[in-house]
Amino acid sequence: MTWKTLDDMDFAGKRALVRVDINVPVEDGVVTDTTRIARIIPTVDYIQEHGGKVILMAHFGRPKGQVVPEMSLEHIAGAVADVLGLTVTWVNSDYADAVAEMEEDEVLLLENLRFNPGEEKNDAGFAARLASLGDIYVNDAFSAAHRAHASTEAVAHLLPSCAGRLMAEELGALEKALGTPERPVVAVVGGAKVSTKLDLLGNLVTKVDHLVIGGGMANTFLAAQGIDVGKSLCEHDLADTARDILDKAKAAGCEIILPRDIVVARAFKAGAASETLAPDACPADAMILDAGPATVAYINDVLEKAKTLVWNGPLGAFEIAPFDAATNAAAAKAAALSKAGKLISVAGGGDTVAALNQAGVADDFTYISTAGGAFLEWMEGKTLPGVAALEG
Ligand code: ADP
Ligand code: MG
Repeated sequence: MTWKTLDDMDFAGKRALVRVDINVPVEDGVVTDTTRIARIIPTVDYIQEHGGKVILMAHFGRPKGQVVPEMSLEHIAGAVADVLGLTVTWVNSDYADAVAEMEEDEVLLLENLRFNPGEEKNDAGFAARLASLGDIYVNDAFSAAHRAHASTEAVAHLLPSCAGRLMAEELGALEKALGTPERPVVAVVGGAKVSTKLDLLGNLVTKVDHLVIGGGMANTFLAAQGIDVGKSLCEHDLADTARDILDKAKAAGCEIILPRDIVVARAFKAGAASETLAPDACPADAMILDAGPATVAYINDVLEKAKTLVWNGPLGAFEIAPFDAATNAAAAKAAALSKAGKLISVAGGGDTVAALNQAGVADDFTYISTAGGAFLEWMEGKTLPGVAALEG
């Protein structure tokens, strides 16, 4: 994979059309978390420092091709201005006039792209209209790169294009983790269901040396081997699929690591009595909610010898203690090894990021992706249209 970065472009006197992800949480009209806005600062600063003007394009919510006033980016413009420390002008029509009149250090923010039905249809006409506003296209929205939309795909073919800082950082981290990783590579895949992560498991068994399967999905694998998992979350209808994945792993020389001990309880609530048992000893009226200490000890041994870790999905039902124990312990180990420079660790996924934050170790991981769906599709080995359009 090769793509240009900001360093390859000449922004002097040019208008840069920059696709960003500022889909921030808003409550009662107030932006409650500005992290996503803060992450575009390096790209905006670089372009302005090199004599370019910045025109931001973004989506907000899911208006599905219609004007939905509550989803106007007008509500976000103030927060963008505050975080960037710049004058930000929101424009909802007459884009060409606004671009013609903009000042050097002013930033234009175009109205929610998804108000236009052409955006999600990757419409050539809408892309051409966007392209007419700029001289250079910069994509800094990795989290939207798994969608072929006018602002992420079609427009990239109409202007000289490059990846913004955030996009380049994310691609670099992912490439290091799965593209050309230092071996041995360990993947940890947990979470609720096998059915949502079939493509992920299928891709990883061909790429990594050790695959830890945890969380609710481990129950499906245990059940597929004839083990009674009681009232555990389990997709019994996927037993064949689970066995296929085990066979595929064997053929590829990938070690599958399943729970070596289990933590069970009768109820998933705070203070519920829990006990640690052998994997085949789950009582008929109990649920497996976490992996036990023997499993963690084994995972930690594997991490000790590994050079690279990719992680998606918690090892247990981490929202309620003590079922966060395995996730916390393995995360702490991975964080310590990363901090000591012994491991490259990349993690992503909504609940995964929440679990690592809750464990207090997220800062010590090499890279935490907040890209959600795009991160997963990349881990599944899929081509991301927004990245492919930047190539060449
Ligand atoms: P991510 O959002 O990081 O991709 P998932 O959504 O796949 O992760 O999985 C997270 C969910 O899996 C959490 O809500 C967690 O409670 C649940 N989970 C993990 N282990 C179990 C288990 N043993 N039984 C039931 N739910 C589990
Ligand atoms: Mg989730």
